[in-house]
Amino acid sequence: MLASTFVLGTQSEGKPPWAPVKPAVVRWAPARLVNGSPFLFRVRPSVRLKSLTGTWLGHELFFDYNPGKQTWVGFAGVSLETKPGRYPLVLHGISQQDARVDMDSQVRVWAAKYPTIVLHVPEKFTAPAPEMRTRIDQEKELKAKVFAVISPEREWAGRFLPAVSTSVSDPFGTRRTFNGAVKSVHGGLDYHAPVGTPLKAINSGTVILARDLFFEGNCVVLDHGQGLLSLYMHLWKIKVHEGERVERGREIGLSGATGRATGPHVHLAVRWQGVYLNPAELLNLRVP
Ligand SMILES: [Zn+2]
Repeated sequence: MLASTFVLGTQSEGKPPWAPVKPAVVRWAPARLVNGSPFLFRVRPSVRLKSLTGTWLGHELFFDYNPGKQTWVGFAGVSLETKPGRYPLVLHGISQQDARVDMDSQVRVWAAKYPTIVLHVPEKFTAPAPEMRTRIDQEKELKAKVFAVISPEREWAGRFLPAVSTSVSDPFGTRRTFNGAVKSVHGGLDYHAPVGTPLKAINSGTVILARDLFFEGNCVVLDHGQGLLSLYMHLWKIKVHEGERVERGREIGLSGATGRATGPHVHLAVRWQGVYLNPAELLNLRVP
């Protein structure tokens, strides 16, 4: 895909304010984007840049330069709720000469197919007792506060690792009905895991939450920077502390069945700037 490119000159240079130049080349991987998917943008501008940022579906994009390929690479995602269609990608570069370079392109999003299932959990989770409401509300507030922070530095590097090596029991995006009443969409990826299975950090990051929550049970949240978080739920034991920096592959806890769980399993979720993305696709990303 080509992105029309304009260099913002200045009147003193005797150029028109907006000078169109050769378009930038924009690619993304995987090539077919669906709702719920994380992916990487690869941008090859026609003008040498010293920095590149962008906006996409209301999100802020951060790019890093890969000199070998003369390409800027940035992490992005599409929320589950995004309808199929074409969406604008707007890029802002700063040239070596400090001129603004604006690029824009259209990116197509397709519809993913996600399954529907019925589940049964203890009543207290679908109709929580009034005395539990205070706890649930407080935790809701805590999560909103923790999730709102976008740390500007990227902490993750290289391919993402699976949290456990066991098989998947429920994929991301499944539409679920709990006890015939409460409906929700599965915002993570579930793995079969007997209680006590070691859980690994899918990439490097900082522990921003490591505590017992009503729905999530013992829960660990890692901040990988630039709005990318990974969440590990229903743990039996937590092995990290809030504020601690962990390396990719570090053991962060042992799996269990705490919180709203139908039995022992691992729930791994990936959150990017307010939306949940498919962890299986994140693990498949070919990171340069
Ligand atoms: Zn789950």
